[in-house]
Amino acid sequence: MENNELIKLAKSVSSDRELTPAATIGGVGSALIAGNGRAYKGKNIDCSCGIGFCAEHSAIAAMITEDETRIEKIVAINADGEIMPPCGRCRELMGQINFDNQKTKIILNNNEEVELKELLPHYWLEKYL
Ligand SMILES: [Zn+2]
Repeated sequence: MENNELIKLAKSVSSDRELTPAATIGGVGSALIAGNGRAYKGKNIDCSCGIGFCAEHSAIAAMITEDETRIEKIVAINADGEIMPPCGRCRELMGQINFDNQKTKIILNNNEEVELKELLPHYWLEKYL
C-alpha cells in the first residue's frame, strides 16, 4: 500500500466527535500496515483524567486482536489533516511488542519517512535487539 493510501485510511477515521462532556474520539486517526500485509486503523479516545489512548494505540490493538505484532508502516493524522509523529508511549509500545518494529517506517510530513529506531536513540532495550 502506498503512503498516500495509508494516509487516506488514517484520515477516514480522524473526525472529532464528542461522546460525553468528558470524552471525545477521533481527533486523531491512525492506519498501519502489519507484517501479515493487512491494514488496521484506529482512532484516539480523549477522556478526562488521562485515561484515553492514542490513535496508534487503537490501530495496534486492532492488529494485536489478530495475533499480529509486526508493523511495517504507520501514520497518524489529526482532524485538521496534519500528520503527527507518534508520542513517546506509542513509540515504546511499537518497540516492545516486536523488536523487529525498530524497522517500522513512520510516515511524517513532506513525504518524509523514518524508521522507529531513529525516533528511539539509545534505546533502553538495545541489548535484546
Ligand atoms: Zn501515542
